[in-house]
Amino acid sequence: MSAYQAKRTPRFNSPAAWRDILNPPAPSEPLAGDHTADFVVIGGGFAGLSAARRLRQLQPSSTIVVLDALAIAEGSAGRNSGFMIDLPHDLASEDYAGQGAAADQVLTGLNRHAIRFAQDAVAEFDINRAFADPVGKVNGAASEAGHAHNESYAAHLASLGEVFEKLDAKDMQAMTGSDYYTSGLYTPGTLMLQPAGYVLGVAAGLRAQGVQIWENSAVVGFQKQGQSWCVQTAHGRVSTPQIILANNGHLESFGVARGHLMQLFLYASMTPELSADDLKSLGGQPRWGITPSDPMGTTMRRIDTAQGGNRIVTRTCATVRQTMEVSASDVRRAARVQRRKFDARFPKLAGVQMQYEWAGHLCLSLNGVSVTGVIEDGVISACVQNGLGTARGTLTGIAAAELACGQNSDSTRYFTEEDKPKKLPPQPFAQFGANAYLRWKEHQARAE
Ligand SMILES: Cc1cc2nc3c(=O)[nH]c(=O)nc-3n(C[C@H](O)[C@H](O)[C@H](O)COP(=O)(O)OP(=O)(O)OC[C@H]3O[C@@H](n4cnc5c(N)ncnc54)[C@H](O)[C@@H]3O)c2cc1C
Repeated sequence: MSAYQAKRTPRFNSPAAWRDILNPPAPSEPLAGDHTADFVVIGGGFAGLSAARRLRQLQPSSTIVVLDALAIAEGSAGRNSGFMIDLPHDLASEDYAGQGAAADQVLTGLNRHAIRFAQDAVAEFDINRAFADPVGKVNGAASEAGHAHNESYAAHLASLGEVFEKLDAKDMQAMTGSDYYTSGLYTPGTLMLQPAGYVLGVAAGLRAQGVQIWENSAVVGFQKQGQSWCVQTAHGRVSTPQIILANNGHLESFGVARGHLMQLFLYASMTPELSADDLKSLGGQPRWGITPSDPMGTTMRRIDTAQGGNRIVTRTCATVRQTMEVSASDVRRAARVQRRKFDARFPKLAGVQMQYEWAGHLCLSLNGVSVTGVIEDGVISACVQNGLGTARGTLTGIAAAELACGQNSDSTRYFTEEDKPKKLPPQPFAQFGANAYLRWKEHQARAE
């Protein structure tokens, strides 16, 4: 194809809480007028900013333009739970174990490469260390079934030679202040992000190095003009030989991989800053992160002043929305479920109202592969992160930049050798079936 038109561009009807709590600077003016660049990156989330940083490393004197439809960290980069996980984290499994030892070892190595890249960015751009805290995370269990999932995951980790620590109910209470969890499995390699703080910091660092980042500048299309591509927004154009598509599920909005991508929305809520009395009755440690022992369970996180306030974040519920938009009632339903999960864990905080309730977008393929590689001459994709988009997004961005510069690496080889995404069953059956399945899995995960 020599012309791509965006069928839709991102829109959210709920706040990006992680961004909001940091009172960030106003976004840039949208792109206007005619520009030229050596590279245009479409999307300024984990993938897009990582691509821009890797391009800057490989070709320091090149001109790089990043265009995002929203403000930086207003998209899913500012809507996730901030677990940048190194280990296998297969959401389609019962216990996160992935595709077998050899594949899991390769993926763990690549995830760690992405985590090191993020930590290097934190050091290089002098980003607040509380926004990327290398403290690890815990898989919490609250039932026999949850404990069994953790045991099975621990056995898998042992077979991979990975370190972990088993926690009992007392340890869990000392950490969270709640007697809800009966056991836990600690792994040390997760980088805990204040996701908006991290991406805003990377964007600021890149700008200081001369990368042009234009916010509220949705790309509505791009087409071949001679040897270059002309990338168009509502008020501006950039002419470039190389485009990196780092726009997550909206890859499909340009007609790429259409009918092969599952557009999934996850939901979360966040308390206001907890009062001194609430904090006293809560007890526990000021920062912790718990992923559920059952992948379809509830993620909980406690953050502190340095990360945007003493708050608790609850993430649960998932819906497939092929239109890439959720309704207000989707967010309300999820908020009701989150409230129940929060109350069950923190009855002491029953009076606390949530300050933020939101949805965010991620993109999966049925066979768990990304769409990272050359789409056609001068157009490279870094999309479809399959749930773990903080690490995988970083990695796809790195790989896309390396491909654009003609470099080979473990990351480029990994993505180049991946299978293509499997075709989805026809709509609307695929969406209906997937949502019925997700509700059933949520029900099965129950206490977790
Ligand atoms: C509630 C929730 C919890 C999550 N928790 C975790 C977690 O703990 N750990 C984890 O690893 N992942 C988590 N995720 C997933 C993670 O947020 C995503 O996978 C990740 O953001 C993907 O990164 P990305 O850069 O590929 O895409 P995005 O972060 O979505 O960035 C893509 C960017 O492209 C822009 N864009 C799209 N179309 C256009 C266009 N036409 N023109 C210009 N710009 C465009 C968008 O505005 C967006 O900013 C969670 C997601 C949600 C919703």
